[in-house]
Amino acid sequence: MWRGGTAAWGLLRGGGAGSPRAASGTAAAVVHLRQRLEKELEDIRGAGTWKNERVIASRQGPHLRLAGGGAGILNFCANNYLGLSSHPEVIRAAVEALEKFGAGLSSVRFICGTQSIHKDLEEKIARFHQREDAILYASCFDANAGIFEALLTPEDAVLSDELNHASIIDGIRLCKANKYRYKHMDMQDLEAKLQEAQKHRLRLVATDGAFSMDGDIAPLREICQLAQKYDALVFIDECHATGFLGPNGRGTDELLGVMDKVTIINSTLGKALGGAAGGYTTGPKPLIDLLRQRSRPYLFSNSLPPAVVGCASKALDLLMESNAIAQSMAAKTQRFRSKMTAAGFTISGKDHPICPVMLGDARLAAVMAEDMLNRGIYVIGFSYPVVPKGKARIRVQISAVHSDEDIDRCVEAFTEVGRKHGALP
Ligand code: PLP
Repeated sequence: MWRGGTAAWGLLRGGGAGSPRAASGTAAAVVHLRQRLEKELEDIRGAGTWKNERVIASRQGPHLRLAGGGAGILNFCANNYLGLSSHPEVIRAAVEALEKFGAGLSSVRFICGTQSIHKDLEEKIARFHQREDAILYASCFDANAGIFEALLTPEDAVLSDELNHASIIDGIRLCKANKYRYKHMDMQDLEAKLQEAQKHRLRLVATDGAFSMDGDIAPLREICQLAQKYDALVFIDECHATGFLGPNGRGTDELLGVMDKVTIINSTLGKALGGAAGGYTTGPKPLIDLLRQRSRPYLFSNSLPPAVVGCASKALDLLMESNAIAQSMAAKTQRFRSKMTAAGFTISGKDHPICPVMLGDARLAAVMAEDMLNRGIYVIGFSYPVVPKGKARIRVQISAVHSDEDIDRCVEAFTEVGRKHGALP
């Protein structure tokens, strides 16, 4: 029973609620700050890299309503690969966890922020990946920010694919190990860098399992062979693989038959696994034990809220019961990729639900994405600096909850819009 009462709530809000202050701090400093920020914002707009956020007024799902209009929009740009973000059982599990365990922990894990559901979810994640143990974070960004610094010292080396996710890059920046960057998925270059790195105590090869801009999958078999040859460890970020790649959705390591060769997996609960939030590391028990002692985003940030834990836990139950959802997503991916290729488009990657429609020109990608939305299809164009110059694209993401008709409508709209703007003959 909550005993704060409405008087306490009034005190917390204070007298100034609802009246934002125009500025605080010394007037001159604030004026300078505003000028500097406005110039920087103008530069971003001028460079054409301003990111607009469309406001969704419905649940996440294959069909959306956008604020201020558009209902029945077909959504092809979420990482909701399995459609679990609004799965009724996932939502129910969140509500039950919220009611039973409360809104949140108001604490980090090691002070008074660990509940039985956190331990259960960690055990379930380790079982799902067939690893010894797992540790939860508020996000996979945090898991990536926390692992390298805790694990590697100046005696060690980390070898990272040049196109790894920003959070891996930042995590590596924070650590004091010797850093090597190898060319994207280039095994010759990785081998050369491994040879150079032989002088260090420990070598860790770090790669995304699946790369989110290109929909391509890391050559993990070859990476693991090289790791074995040069006595290195392998780390993979499975954010775009967990839950749906491989015969049982375990990820890239299952898909490529190297589950016993990859030592460390980081992944997210914020994409295929219910889409709420959260991330984790799974791997050898002493590593997980060390992260609980040393990993800064874990030690100094609040515990995952119970509702979020409930979502992910139910999503994993659903996936461990059956691989039907993952297989339906794979069939839809196949349908989209083959129909788009037959229509004359080039789709990057292979067999992955991230299907980048390669267009080259940044303006073309932007106007085509806008025109797709006019036809009720929500897709996003990406151009430099998010992807290399001259490689602009529209990234389409397929979900298990798209129907065949949804996929066909998307292909038809692309074909019309492509012809209109000269991307197709
Ligand atoms: N790693 C990769 C490859 C990602 O794509 C993302 C999210 O975009 C992250 C890490 C961060 O995941 P989270 O959203 O859980 O912080």
